[in-house]
Amino acid sequence: MISVKEAITSILDNSISLGTHHIHITKASDSYLSSNIYSTINLPLFRQSAMDGFAVCQYNGDSYKIIGEIQAGDSKDIALKKGEGVRIFTGARVPKDADIVIMKEYVEESGDEILLQKKISQKTNIRIPGELIKEGDLALKKGTLLNSAALGFLSGLGVDKVTVSQKPRVAILVTGNELEKAGTPLTEGKIYDSNSIMLQMLLKKAGVTIVDCFNVEDTQAASTSIVKEVLEAYDFIIASGGISVGDYDLMRNAFHINGVDEKFYKINQRPGKPIYFGKKDNTLVFGLPGNPAACFINYQAYVLPALQLAMGKITDTLFKTATLEDAITNTTKRSLFLRAEVKGSSVKIFKNQNSAMLQSLVNANALVYISEKTTQIEKGEEVRYLEILQ
Ligand code: AMP
Ligand code: MG
Repeated sequence: MISVKEAITSILDNSISLGTHHIHITKASDSYLSSNIYSTINLPLFRQSAMDGFAVCQYNGDSYKIIGEIQAGDSKDIALKKGEGVRIFTGARVPKDADIVIMKEYVEESGDEILLQKKISQKTNIRIPGELIKEGDLALKKGTLLNSAALGFLSGLGVDKVTVSQKPRVAILVTGNELEKAGTPLTEGKIYDSNSIMLQMLLKKAGVTIVDCFNVEDTQAASTSIVKEVLEAYDFIIASGGISVGDYDLMRNAFHINGVDEKFYKINQRPGKPIYFGKKDNTLVFGLPGNPAACFINYQAYVLPALQLAMGKITDTLFKTATLEDAITNTTKRSLFLRAEVKGSSVKIFKNQNSAMLQSLVNANALVYISEKTTQIEKGEEVRYLEILQ
């Protein structure tokens, strides 16, 4: 049995690389950039009006003659003399002779004249070229997750293609003869399956797009044959259940028969002591506990970091810190991952930590890590936690 620390080290040491590809930004959502991106333009590109109003030349008096109009998108320039101006709209190119844009709300119009109704502040209401980002500046760093804002930002810089790490193909193997799908009638001895949809949705949240889920009968033949099949076509295999010590926990043997190199089995932790991690060629193999909450928590602690690493995320540390709202005792001599809610800089650990109970994970956003060596942590002391991604 190994410690949590050793397990995490093993996962980081055995990470896989999936290579990169150059793809259109519409296909790059939730991918990680595999190189820095520098801006090739100034943003804004030209002097832009920040308001709807009037761009005037040599602002000094209370009235101006309006001699034209410039709309957003117009490419024309209108030459202005002192005391002249143009009607202008937000985002439009400001004439080069104009030094200020007066807000529409500040003037009264009378024919082709405007009369200032309010004293105006020093603000010119003109956006300066390069004010947001300058040509040649770093726009986004290697390892940045391309979320919606990042993609919008890149598109605004004229970037239509990006080089990102490839995403893994993931196979979920759900074991358990007792499992039935929600929506079907339950017969004696059966239970409804939680983990199939849960793991699929967790992977979707992590940005994985190729996920196939297989139900596996609790026989050695079925387990061995599905493992053989998925090892050939996927980068990650995540098994749910069948990894403990019961006579019908057959996944570890199925991995062994198929030549998976076992990196660890059993971590001195709660929940989920029996958990499997192995590697064959460039495929990582995880065997998670069948108990739904234990499955969820061990996915967060071990599978998610491995996925993110393979997808090109650059992480300095997995754990964050917060101060404990209530004292906690650990008499188990094992490490604990406790579901909790982090708010600001403090963290509240939930009462219900049952391995089978998913309900108390619904509102959890963190898993507080307590080491096996720690027996007591007082209120107000600092603890480490993993952020939940769900
Ligand atoms: P196992 O890890 O296969 O020994 O399963 C441990 C416990 O979790 C058993 O009570 C199983 O019935 C339950 N379990 C296993 N897989 C699932 C699942 N997909 N959904 C809900 N409960 C499960
Ligand atoms: Mg089972």
